[in-house]
Amino acid sequence: MFDCIEYECVCPVCKKKVSGFQSKDRDCILDRMKPQDVDKFYSSCDTCGCWIEYHTEGNKFRRKVFGKHREALAKYEKLINIKE
Ligand SMILES: [Zn+2]
Repeated sequence: MFDCIEYECVCPVCKKKVSGFQSKDRDCILDRMKPQDVDKFYSSCDTCGCWIEYHTEGNKFRRKVFGKHREALAKYEKLINIKE
């Protein structure tokens, strides 16, 4: 299982809303957590099928995006501030 991360973003590829973020960093008992509670969380875009991951980097998160075939889409990689 996994825990649910309370976070939404706009898909960097197709600009539709992405929610349903998950993480496996903690107890994986479907707890609701904030991005700051974990080191890595992820979701996929229901519209275009890309995969979006956020990794802690200092006090920010690095966003990585992968296409339908899990190919890295480096142009969408970005360091992001996530506010509480
Ligand atoms: Zn998308």
